[in-house]
Amino acid sequence: MPAIAFDLPENVDQIRDGIRAFAETEVIPRHEKSRELFENAREKYDEDGRLSAPVRELIREIRMASAEAGYYHMCVPEHLGGGGQGMQAYYACWEELFHTCGPHNWMMLYALSHWAFGPSRLLEKATERAREEILAPLMSGEKSMCFGLSEPGAGSDATMIQTKAKPDGDGWVINGRKIWTSNAPIADYCILFAVTDPERKGGISAFLVPTNAPGFHMQRVVKLFGHIGGDEAELYFEDLKVEPWQLVGELHEGFAAALYGVSLGRIYNSARAVGLGRWSVELALDYANTREAFGNLIGQYQGVSFPLAEAATELHAAHLMGLNATRLMDQGHAAIKELSMAKVYSVQVGLKAVDRAMQVHGAMGLTNEMGLAEAWQYLRIINIADGSNEILNKTIAQRLLKGDTDL
Ligand SMILES: Cc1cc2nc3c(=O)[nH]c(=O)nc-3n(C[C@H](O)[C@H](O)[C@H](O)COP(=O)(O)OP(=O)(O)OC[C@H]3O[C@@H](n4cnc5c(N)ncnc54)[C@H](O)[C@@H]3O)c2cc1C
Repeated sequence: MPAIAFDLPENVDQIRDGIRAFAETEVIPRHEKSRELFENAREKYDEDGRLSAPVRELIREIRMASAEAGYYHMCVPEHLGGGGQGMQAYYACWEELFHTCGPHNWMMLYALSHWAFGPSRLLEKATERAREEILAPLMSGEKSMCFGLSEPGAGSDATMIQTKAKPDGDGWVINGRKIWTSNAPIADYCILFAVTDPERKGGISAFLVPTNAPGFHMQRVVKLFGHIGGDEAELYFEDLKVEPWQLVGELHEGFAAALYGVSLGRIYNSARAVGLGRWSVELALDYANTREAFGNLIGQYQGVSFPLAEAATELHAAHLMGLNATRLMDQGHAAIKELSMAKVYSVQVGLKAVDRAMQVHGAMGLTNEMGLAEAWQYLRIINIADGSNEILNKTIAQRLLKGDTDL
């Protein structure tokens, strides 16, 4: 019996099944062949902490295979050459990828265009010339991008960014810094946010910049949780010149692009939390059904089974919230409250589910081979990234106080 009473649109069901098959044939086998490479951190990363050339090549292969199969750019509008799918399909596919692949087959991150790393509806706001120059390699998966909004002094409150784009001839010259920019160590392009109207709070603009442009520099790869490399970078810009064709959206109105990007990130991370949570609960159920202690399978003890029952209940609720918020978005609603609720709830219950699965595994849960520690790290991160739990609660409270009390 299915757990969800209402049918997803037929296209969403089909694409979700298709992306699972893609992961099983294109992603997981590549991981199996590359285990040694990935398990040796000194091979996986270069000296400076960015992913090494063989790893980057595998990632590129997956992006390109997915583009060829029609999944990679499925949520890019049809007039830009994409599949024109909506947000519910985006949610369902990410959830399926994380659920099927778990944290250890992590290259599934590249099986679908991630909101910040690849083409999305955001490119509708790019100029005709920008699209001519970069759309084809982004759509084919040959090249990738990143999204530079946060700075050392501006995270939750992005109106505090200090990077400035000063008028210079027809265009602008950019100076400043960014931090936490995911995929920046290997990206070909960056959507970069800078202040263009210092007289107005939030007077920022978005620019599309090649990462090899003169004046675009990587200061360092930011390393998390004791890893020797990472996906996030600190960047700085010294007299980086940009021209009008590089503007994304209206001048001084970059916030609209930033908010749109972040809302895609919230969908992605809601799905990631539910998918990884489900993966970890299933792993723990297998273990509870085979591991014995005191003459019984440990699953027979309520101390073991009840936390898993609670995790499953919470993940089921989170899953429904994600499906609902994205359905509202596909119906043309902003769904600010509902998407915020889905993200803040999903990341918390996903993290809790992984922690419970670790406990059920005893000491085994802490080992590298189970992958639970990796899942825990991923989900701990997204309690902060793309709107921390506190900022999302602030957003929900503001909506409620304004009278948006429908639940
Ligand atoms: C792994 C990772 C990847 C990321 N990728 C990107 C990326 O690709 N591009 C990009 O631009 N950014 C990226 N970020 C940055 C991310 O968006 C910020 O970390 C996030 O917005 C929070 O900002 P901050 O870390 O500066 O925390 P701060 O804003 O300094 O907040 C510190 C603490 O105060 C709390 N707080 C702040 N204001 C309030 C308030 N009003 N009420 C209650 N509590 C409050 C926060 O919730 C947090 O707990 C990434 C972050 C991480 C960890």
